[in-house]
Amino acid sequence: MCGVLGILGRYRLDASKELLLLLAHRGQDASGLLWATESAFQESKTMGSPSGLSVQREWSECILGSTRYPTSGRRVSSEDELCDFVGPFQSGAVAVTHNGNITNLSSMTEKDYQCDTKFICDRLQHHLAESDDHLPTAFVRLTSEVDGAYSIVGIHDGSLFAFRDSRGFKPLVFGRSAEHTIVASESTVLDMAHVKLERDVYPGELIVFGPNQAMQCYSISQQDGHKHCFFEYVYFANPAARIENQLVYDVRFRLGRALANRFTRLQLEEPDYVIPVPDTSRPAAQALAEELGVPMREVILKNRYLGRTFIVQSPEARNAMAHYKYIYLDDKIRGKNLLVVDDSIVRGTTAKMIVKDLKKRGAAKVYFAVTCPPQSHPCYYGIDISTSSELIASQAGLEQIRDFIGADALIYQDMDGLVNATGIRDICLACLDGNYPTEHAKKIQAAIQLRDKKQGIRDYEREIR
Ligand code: SF4
Repeated sequence: MCGVLGILGRYRLDASKELLLLLAHRGQDASGLLWATESAFQESKTMGSPSGLSVQREWSECILGSTRYPTSGRRVSSEDELCDFVGPFQSGAVAVTHNGNITNLSSMTEKDYQCDTKFICDRLQHHLAESDDHLPTAFVRLTSEVDGAYSIVGIHDGSLFAFRDSRGFKPLVFGRSAEHTIVASESTVLDMAHVKLERDVYPGELIVFGPNQAMQCYSISQQDGHKHCFFEYVYFANPAARIENQLVYDVRFRLGRALANRFTRLQLEEPDYVIPVPDTSRPAAQALAEELGVPMREVILKNRYLGRTFIVQSPEARNAMAHYKYIYLDDKIRGKNLLVVDDSIVRGTTAKMIVKDLKKRGAAKVYFAVTCPPQSHPCYYGIDISTSSELIASQAGLEQIRDFIGADALIYQDMDGLVNATGIRDICLACLDGNYPTEHAKKIQAAIQLRDKKQGIRDYEREIR
């Protein structure tokens, strides 16, 4: 997952950096801005969040922005690497940034790309050169050769363009005002810029935006069914974002209601409090508390000056960070039955730490509820759960997971509850059921069945031809 931004119409660079900050939760490995001047593109890139970008109070007619989460290539380790690792990238007269993951990158090139956005940019430039600079033709050729998830924003010939892969895995929305067109991963960026959300870019659609709100739409590639990433609703996106006409907050609220049903059926001793694990699960915890008629209490507080645990890459750094991540209200815990609500259990280590911390502080019982079903398969489309060995649910059943985290009960969402809460049928559930919707991902999955013992690389970076 990454965040992407495109602006057409005279805009201040320092103000565009503020807009990019609204996408910092989607990736904080590195960030970049690229803008058009009269004669060339210029750029500023930084390690970490967009707050480190060095831009003046200058103006540009066309700007691209990117927050990077490294699902291809490794993490940025020094400033010298920024130009190869973080978008936006330029190749000839085209510049692009993208969110997603190209699953067949290692099968397509011998070159050691540290970022698949750079690969997309180079291929697009290649196809433009071969198609008389005709962008729709270049996209038809690009989509026929790459597999995976890719929501792209770019600049070509003074225009801004947006493209979403034919399954629409990753979100991409746009809006236009009299002065500006803005394309972004999340609609909150448009809200902040006072540009009204117009709609999602349709899966398989290329839109080329020109001056004066002109826009041309091309249907580049279509699939029978779309596959929107359900995890955007459960975890990634800001609750204020609208994706596919669904307010993320509402989806999370409905997930909580569905969980309440499941909890009631277990006929456990009544909890004294429902407790959200901040911040993502708060709407679900609120709904669950309302349904059960139990008060919600914010007993677990987040240390705001640490980033998201998920974004930290090494297990050691993640564990150390998790330890400092939460602060507890001891007085509300002692002797109480607590129903904790979290958005997911990935490795199980954070859930285990929370249960242990609550019990250490005198909780009588700790029930653990999860707003999404068990994740037992890796994601090849843009989040870095790239091998199944990282997922506790791929190795252990419900009772074993409950035992591992030390909870008195473990309540997962079921598939129907999840699908109904999202309000859309065309969603990707591959990390839950292993049904990967793209051809190359299916090949990766088949190869893993015959898994070699080679450890330490992402499944989709294995050589599969
Ligand atoms: S596999 Fe899971 S995380 Fe990846 S795109 Fe599909 S739903 Fe999203």
